[in-house]
Amino acid sequence: MRIFATTSRYVQGAGALDELGRHCAVLGERAFVVTDADMARLLGSRVEASFKAAQLAATVEVFPGEITHAAIAELAEQAQAFGAAMIVGLGGGKALDTAKGVALRLGVRAVSVPTIASNDGPASAAIAVYDEHHIMQDILQLPRNPELVLVDTQVIANAPVRFLRAGIGDAISKRFEAEACSHAGAHTLLGTPASLTGLVAAQACYDIIRKHGAGAIRAVQERRVDEDLEALVEATVLLSTISFENGGLSLAHALARGFSYLERAQGTLHGDHVAYGLLVQLVMEHRASSFIEELRGFYHELGLPTQLADFGLTSPTPEEIRDLAEKSMVSPSALRFAPPVDASQLERAIIEVERMNANMG
Ligand SMILES: [Zn+2]
Repeated sequence: MRIFATTSRYVQGAGALDELGRHCAVLGERAFVVTDADMARLLGSRVEASFKAAQLAATVEVFPGEITHAAIAELAEQAQAFGAAMIVGLGGGKALDTAKGVALRLGVRAVSVPTIASNDGPASAAIAVYDEHHIMQDILQLPRNPELVLVDTQVIANAPVRFLRAGIGDAISKRFEAEACSHAGAHTLLGTPASLTGLVAAQACYDIIRKHGAGAIRAVQERRVDEDLEALVEATVLLSTISFENGGLSLAHALARGFSYLERAQGTLHGDHVAYGLLVQLVMEHRASSFIEELRGFYHELGLPTQLADFGLTSPTPEEIRDLAEKSMVSPSALRFAPPVDASQLERAIIEVERMNANMG
């Protein structure tokens, strides 16, 4: 058995935001938009205008900040009172996941409009729910992926470059994670072995990042859209999601889970954790040091993290390293690797990754 799942429609380009209403019109007549205060101020009127032009009723609601079960329940009540046929998330990961959570609760369609490209969430059916201490509490799943993902690349180009960089970190691992997951005979989040389409997407995602990553970073630093950025965004927002949902995750994402428990790494981005986690995974795979060094060179070119100090953990203590290794084992992705790993092996691999930086002097 194999299952392939993805978003029904993906729209990307400079100025795409003005087309949002038109693309939503096939989904129903009433749109409930969930966003944060900054995006409401910056883009709210444009979004409203696009719905109006498409003759849809829309309301823009500002969500409280952290995505908790309570926040979702409250917004769901408002959306139901509004008679929403679809819930549109506009903003970063939290706004998008909150919107998906509301859609799940009401059984209506979800639409993602990411304003940063920092992770693989927008096109995904997964919803990460946190507690008040920013610790991931639950991963909920929509019964279907968001019906529409719309990315305005000019909006992405206007956002701080660190978000684009994190999105690259979250995506660059996918080829290796899908391979490791398949090698272990493990299943994807869909509960089946990887589909060929998922594996091909993961490889393509990696190739596009290697070809267009550096150029895309430069484009965003200059707040302009070019072919490098268009290619890169398609890889990190669409292919990256197709890869992990249909190809599977492994140790790089297990490490990312571990990072969320580290006191000194608070406020650092998921995609950066994954990028570091990939280096640990490659050590666990016994990759040739020349291979890892070449990839580390690419990390340096893009400004991706290669050591714990890049997350604020200067001179990491043995306890912090052990903690990272042990907390990573909490993730189900830690089991998607063969031969089976334990915390002490991960701990040694992290120390090895740290040593590579020391060697660079
Ligand atoms: Zn991720």
